[in-house]
Amino acid sequence: MQLRLKLLRSARLLAGLTACVFGLVGAGSALAAAPMVKTSAPGYYRMMLGEFEVTALSDGTVDLPVDKLLTNTSAPEIKKGLANSFESAPLETSVNAFLINTGPKLVLIDTGAGSLFGPTLGNLVTNLKASGYQPEQVDEIFITHLHPDHVGGLVAAGKLVFPNATVRADQRDADFWLSPANLEKAPADAKGFFQGAMASLEPYIKAGHFVPFDTDGELVPGIRSLATPGHTAGHNLYVVESGGKKLVLWGDLIHVAAVQFEDPSVTIQFDSDSKAAAIQRKKAFADAAKAGYLVGAAHLPFPGLGHLRKQGKGYVWVPINYSVVR
Ligand SMILES: [Zn+2]
Repeated sequence: MQLRLKLLRSARLLAGLTACVFGLVGAGSALAAAPMVKTSAPGYYRMMLGEFEVTALSDGTVDLPVDKLLTNTSAPEIKKGLANSFESAPLETSVNAFLINTGPKLVLIDTGAGSLFGPTLGNLVTNLKASGYQPEQVDEIFITHLHPDHVGGLVAAGKLVFPNATVRADQRDADFWLSPANLEKAPADAKGFFQGAMASLEPYIKAGHFVPFDTDGELVPGIRSLATPGHTAGHNLYVVESGGKKLVLWGDLIHVAAVQFEDPSVTIQFDSDSKAAAIQRKKAFADAAKAGYLVGAAHLPFPGLGHLRKQGKGYVWVPINYSVVR
């Protein structure tokens, strides 16, 4: 009896070992044969801000030669800043937009690049849908400024991507970027900015869906615009407040986290008025660090949400803690 049990045990052990060895060989060959998937997770990140639901949406990323684009600094400084963040030029740069469901209104802040900025961008609608919404549900679109990577997603093949939305932006940006006279006198390499803005806004203007504003103020309950001229003449921040919580969406107040948090006086070639842009950046950084509210920006690493802490003469970016919606 005992011998039978022993044999049985040995047989089981052997079977187990054999399965194990074959399993390992099997796993090894399966690993080698499986093609790499090479796609990322859906590009949205969701959180609550008081009673509001905030969804950061990725339009994609674009490689920027930031060593050539940053101004009011030097090549060694840029290199050092990037290296401190384990980065180098060209820098894979996020393009983010933010969807805010206030309850009564679904509001989109910026729209990504659509087809205006190359094949690695233009993913906003895909990610909006993946996040559980449809473009037809968007009631309001607030544009931080009329650069192509912020308005390009408004249209696809000349048609409104958001057919039920009213588009709002600062009158000063509309006057500047939608002016045929300005397009005419712009240097050849800048004409695309004007053409991009015109192609993106004109279908909404025709449909009576473009309503520019000319003062700071509440656009829907809980979201207000705040003019910060510099990066463009009509650049605006959007301040979102609900249930005692505050989020300030910065648009293009910053482009390169690794360099401009430590030294906010560093500017970028895309600035219309780089001196004014630097002043706005310093003011916004100081306010965010002092008050401790949440910040979101178009070109900070996705989801582009976090807090700012003062450190020495500069600031440290503290990305938001990962959280699931409850
Ligand atoms: Zn931008």
